[in-house]
Amino acid sequence: MSDYKWCHGPKCHKSHTQDRVRGVKGSKVLRTKKIKQNTYIGMFSYFCSNSCYNEFANKHAEQIIRIAPRNTPLETPIDVVKEVTRNGWDNSDYITTNIKEKTVETWD
Ligand SMILES: [Zn+2]
Repeated sequence: MSDYKWCHGPKCHKSHTQDRVRGVKGSKVLRTKKIKQNTYIGMFSYFCSNSCYNEFANKHAEQIIRIAPRNTPLETPIDVVKEVTRNGWDNSDYITTNIKEKTVETWD
């Protein structure tokens, strides 16, 4: 198995950077970047940059969403907690509103 993968960014070979220039004078090209494997995890094993990842995701969004479509919203149980705090400079009270996620206790 190869130790490298080609970047999957659809426009990777359009970026004007010196590290993409290959070939001899008169027949030079901008080439898709190679990504060394076993160095990065996740998307950076397949994409040389965030912009290459974003271009891929934008181009193939419909196909990507079909992997795990969401037809109903997700919900996180919360408590909205108001707390009175003392202002340092004039000693007045002010109320802050905090959102705290409810933790679901599980007992094994
Ligand atoms: Zn790239």
